[in-house]
Amino acid sequence: CGIVGYSGKRSAQEVLLNGLEKLEYRGYDSAGVALALEGGIHVVKSKGRLEVLRRKLEAESLPESFCGIGHTRWATHGEPSDVNSHPHSTPRVSIVHNGIIENYGPLKADLMAKGVTFESETDTEVLVRLIDYFCCTQPKASPLTALREALGMVRGSYALGVLFRAEPDTIYAVKKESPLIVGWGEGENFVASDIPALLKYTRRYSVLEEGDMAVVKADGIRFYDAFGKPVEREVLTADWDE
Ligand code: GLU
Repeated sequence: CGIVGYSGKRSAQEVLLNGLEKLEYRGYDSAGVALALEGGIHVVKSKGRLEVLRRKLEAESLPESFCGIGHTRWATHGEPSDVNSHPHSTPRVSIVHNGIIENYGPLKADLMAKGVTFESETDTEVLVRLIDYFCCTQPKASPLTALREALGMVRGSYALGVLFRAEPDTIYAVKKESPLIVGWGEGENFVASDIPALLKYTRRYSVLEEGDMAVVKADGIRFYDAFGKPVEREVLTADWDE
């Protein structure tokens, strides 16, 4: 339902929680974040209010992270629960997803036949396991290629934030039939499903077009269109109050 991503110099945990709070008005049943840390991606998620997530994060008192993704979920496939909350992850990749993967059933059956195991009932987990599958099977694919290969196989709607262990300073953002924007900062950049999530930090944003992928790092954002061609996207200025 709500997506936030961050790469920069601030505490990613704080930026993500603040952004998710600004998206609360859309409604949700659970929330979670994935943070890039020294030893890998660390995921904290929970059914219930953001307050529950905030307390869980405080109890863990993690080292500072400067890149991460966050999500508030409105369940479509799989009941609201801790395991069904986003991010969905493998040790190599973590994703947050708005929308519905329509053909998750047959894709899940194919992956299970190859020995892949699942822990949630969500459509989203199929996508992260598919990306992971392309990352690690022979021939191994780069994060960008693995993401493209996986997306080439799914039908449905998605706004995605993706974090790879191999690229802990980068958020991949992809948009199909579900809104997604990126925010431009100074030495920091953002991903969000809606403008209010960004306003505390920046008013400059670009809207992803249908099929776009944005590769978001602290020092810049690159865009690719639905055909994988590098493109530019207009920078707009929000004149809303926070
Ligand atoms: N279909 C996904 C799920 O049920 C995403 C729901 C959403 O957009 O929040 O987990």
